[in-house]
Amino acid sequence: MTGLHAFENARQLLKQLPGLGYRSAERIALHLLVENPERLQPLLEALRDAAEQLHRCERCGNLAESTLCKLCTDPHRNGHRLCIIEQIPDLLALERANAHDGCYHVLHGKLSPIRGIGPEQLNLASLEKRLSPNSSENIEEIILALSNDIEGEATCHYIQGTLLAAHPAIHITRIGFGIPSGTGPTYVDPTTLKNAIAARRQYQ
Ligand SMILES: [Zn+2]
Repeated sequence: MTGLHAFENARQLLKQLPGLGYRSAERIALHLLVENPERLQPLLEALRDAAEQLHRCERCGNLAESTLCKLCTDPHRNGHRLCIIEQIPDLLALERANAHDGCYHVLHGKLSPIRGIGPEQLNLASLEKRLSPNSSENIEEIILALSNDIEGEATCHYIQGTLLAAHPAIHITRIGFGIPSGTGPTYVDPTTLKNAIAARRQYQ
């Protein structure tokens, strides 16, 4: 403890960010407040601008500057093939790997009774809308690209048993080949990811 309330407060808030432990939070706080204070203002402004301009795409849950994201409005994407993922970093990893030419749907999580995450916490309402007959999308295939772990599998089962059961014509596949147990697309190298999508198998 430094005894400096403002510093402790900043460090505590930084520590709550994903991926930052006590020491990294301390390093960042010292870097911005003492060692390189000229970096603080541009960072604050960039974060404020991003917070004002960015939000979730109404259709897929990706980052967007308008109602729909760039991928949802891209006429060159295969709109019949929808890849369901847990989080935006999965989308970015799949895009970097050039592994998927269709559209996405970001759930923003996966079912986890232990962490209190139920279906209502996931981005499922807009998925249901996308699958409804009133939707302008004509989805023919759904690729379940969720983590290769119990929670990812439970989420796939839930989606199949609730939303997809009403749409038997949709072909459902699941990636998995080459994805190590307990991880998802974000943590896999581009080649493995590309192979995992290419080798997707029928999900039932
Ligand atoms: Zn979108």
